[in-house]
Amino acid sequence: MLTMPKCHDCGKFCRPVEWQMIYSGALPEPQEEIYKCAACVEKHGSFAPQPGIKPEYSCGKLPTTGATFPDGMTEEDDKEFNRQWNVERMTHNA
Ligand SMILES: [Zn+2]
Repeated sequence: MLTMPKCHDCGKFCRPVEWQMIYSGALPEPQEEIYKCAACVEKHGSFAPQPGIKPEYSCGKLPTTGATFPDGMTEEDDKEFNRQWNVERMTHNA
């Protein structure tokens, strides 16, 4: 069972709309993947690519599944989101 992603900016569990890989610089692999919710993107703007990292490997937008819910997902949204998220992760890792 995967946990819900947490927004890096507001710290809330959310439906993330953007991701960023954090590279420490010591290793070529990313150390951490962080997410941002729609509300924070609106408030603070998008993630900026890390200096020295190719923008396409540094950060980007997540594919949205129809409507976005910047805040307070309904139970229905929640289920659908988890389903989509798991499918995406499984396909990605396959
Ligand atoms: Zn947020």
